[in-house]
Amino acid sequence: MGRGLSGLVLSALGAKTHKVTVLDKQPHGEHMLRIHFHSDTLLEPVEAPGDWLRMWFPDDRGKLYQRGYTMINPDYSEGTFDVDILQHDPPGPAVRWARRCEAGEVIEATRYSGKVFSLIQPQPAGYLFLGDMTSLPAIRDLVAAIPEEVPVVVRLVDRAGDEGGGATTPAIRENLDFAWIPELPEGRTFLPTLEAGDFSGWYAWVAAETVETRLAKTALSREHLVSGPLLHSQAYWIRGRAMGTEK
Ligand SMILES: Cc1cc2nc3c(=O)[nH]c(=O)nc-3n(C[C@H](O)[C@H](O)[C@H](O)COP(=O)(O)OP(=O)(O)OC[C@H]3O[C@@H](n4cnc5c(N)ncnc54)[C@H](O)[C@@H]3O)c2cc1C
Repeated sequence: MGRGLSGLVLSALGAKTHKVTVLDKQPHGEHMLRIHFHSDTLLEPVEAPGDWLRMWFPDDRGKLYQRGYTMINPDYSEGTFDVDILQHDPPGPAVRWARRCEAGEVIEATRYSGKVFSLIQPQPAGYLFLGDMTSLPAIRDLVAAIPEEVPVVVRLVDRAGDEGGGATTPAIRENLDFAWIPELPEGRTFLPTLEAGDFSGWYAWVAAETVETRLAKTALSREHLVSGPLLHSQAYWIRGRAMGTEK
């Protein structure tokens, strides 16, 4: 089945769609499945940390659903990369596909992620990352890209109450303040962090549930004057609704 209007729009924008083959699948901690993929064409010699793919997941009748997933462990010489898929409840087409996929299965992934992460010049006072299990794969690689002398603060939402259930967290380094924080009602999860600290002059990267992301973005720009090139915010999922397009 085709990729529909959004597939046509992405093609018109110059986005390239690649075939990716499942090589292997294994649990990553309690809550994620790590899918190991191969593609002859998808990878670039150097990949930006945290870059992501628009993956087209078929349901059991072949209908396609586009969802965003972060590419990790890219290996250009082997043509391989991994994706960590959170097994959330209720599941959607991406989660259901991850559960049933097997080695050898081929799906498609479109590369069109917009602006990728790069270190800010002049160097900001620090880097703040606000995220959850869905943005943990990106945050791990983004933190690793930041020089150790620059302060980094990471706050991740602990929705399951088990601090990620064993998923790999950012590698320990100098100047890293990392903590899991409890989910708060009405998307207020990140507000205590932002009320407790002074992040003016920092770069902030926010990716979590839609309302959490929006409230954090507003507080950062209003209370900490973090905006423009110093602020990246992107909703990674929507509570109670599908996130993506379908055909
Ligand atoms: C740029 C980008 C990168 C992303 N990278 C990753 C990644 O590396 N790993 C990853 O796991 N996710 C990642 N996500 C999030 C993922 O795309 C969404 O969680 C997506 O909604 C999952 O698709 P689905 O088909 O399973 O569920 P959908 O059909 O979108 O939604 C079905 C139901 O699941 C619920 N739901 C969706 N996500 C969650 C959640 N996190 N917790 C609780 N309920 C949820 C929805 O509210 C809805 O009720 C990324 C998103 C973006 C935009």
